[in-house]
Amino acid sequence: LEAKRTRSGHRVYDRELRERTEQQRRRRAALERAVAEDRITAYYQPIVDARTLEVLSLEALARWEEDGDLVLPGEWIDIAEESGLIVPIGRHMLRLARRALDRHQMPLAVNLSARELHEPDVLDRIDEAWSGGPWEHLTLEITESVMLRTSAAVPVLSELRARGAHIALDDFGTGYSSLARLARLPVDILKIDRSFVREVRTPRGAGAVRAIVSLAGHHGLEVVAEGVESAADLEALVDLGVPRVQGNFVGRPAPGIPVRGARPVPRPVARPRPLRRRTGT
Ligand code: C2E
Ligand code: MG
Ligand code: MG
Ligand code: MG
Repeated sequence: LEAKRTRSGHRVYDRELRERTEQQRRRRAALERAVAEDRITAYYQPIVDARTLEVLSLEALARWEEDGDLVLPGEWIDIAEESGLIVPIGRHMLRLARRALDRHQMPLAVNLSARELHEPDVLDRIDEAWSGGPWEHLTLEITESVMLRTSAAVPVLSELRARGAHIALDDFGTGYSSLARLARLPVDILKIDRSFVREVRTPRGAGAVRAIVSLAGHHGLEVVAEGVESAADLEALVDLGVPRVQGNFVGRPAPGIPVRGARPVPRPVARPRPLRRRTGT
């Protein structure tokens, strides 16, 4: 009886593993088709002035069109990275961002993955995709953990910065950068992770946000809070001196530029300023 039970347990395990591997393989093949058939598209989410809600720039977020649905990156970014499909996808996103800049006259932010940073010709690919666009209107977002883990990140991002592009540390506060380390990283912007923003009205959350704002001040970095979901959170962030925010409450990701975000408080939503008068992101 004992042996039989063990064996059957084994069989169940094997089958589950096989099914999972098979499902992964199908996912990857489907993503490959989506890339080949140009069904990876960009949504744009505004980054706004926390007080005036004026749109300052747009972050390009990848969407996979499948059977009339949009599949969110959370379901496939890992597969894209493992398979290397993130490389053509990233280039495509940068091309789309370049076009969006022309169309909307807004600075753009694009996410960069670890895998892309490890490509030996990453800079050439970015140059090609950005095709002579104004570097000062491009921000490349890289998660704090990738920055700390990826040896290729620092020289590549330093070079992009030398060209005039801005570098943002995404999901900041979750990767445990030391202060000393942060000072030496090629970074212009800290994006406060949603997990802190979500609890900004608790002492712990407020403390974290306050610490990041102060840290940014010391290092001359800009701050953006991401994932702002309510008027109360927005107000708390303003009180803590956060100058820029992003989140569903002030503007959801959309295929084109939002004319106005959800309006939290009775404050006028300013129209986007044209690029000419802009001094930074
Ligand atoms: P991220 O760069 O930190 O982007 C912010 C994510 O939070 C987006 O999810 C956005 O839709 C979501 N979000 C914005 N406001 C709110 C809010 O108020 N509440 C909540 N709960 N969520 C909010 P999305 O578009 O699903 O993307 C997830 C992640 O996938 C991104 O996180 C980024 O790391 C990655 N990603 C997206 N597009 C690309 C891309 O083109 N290339 C690469 N390498 N990664 C990408
Ligand atoms: Mg991002
Ligand atoms: Mg982020
Ligand atoms: Mg995030």
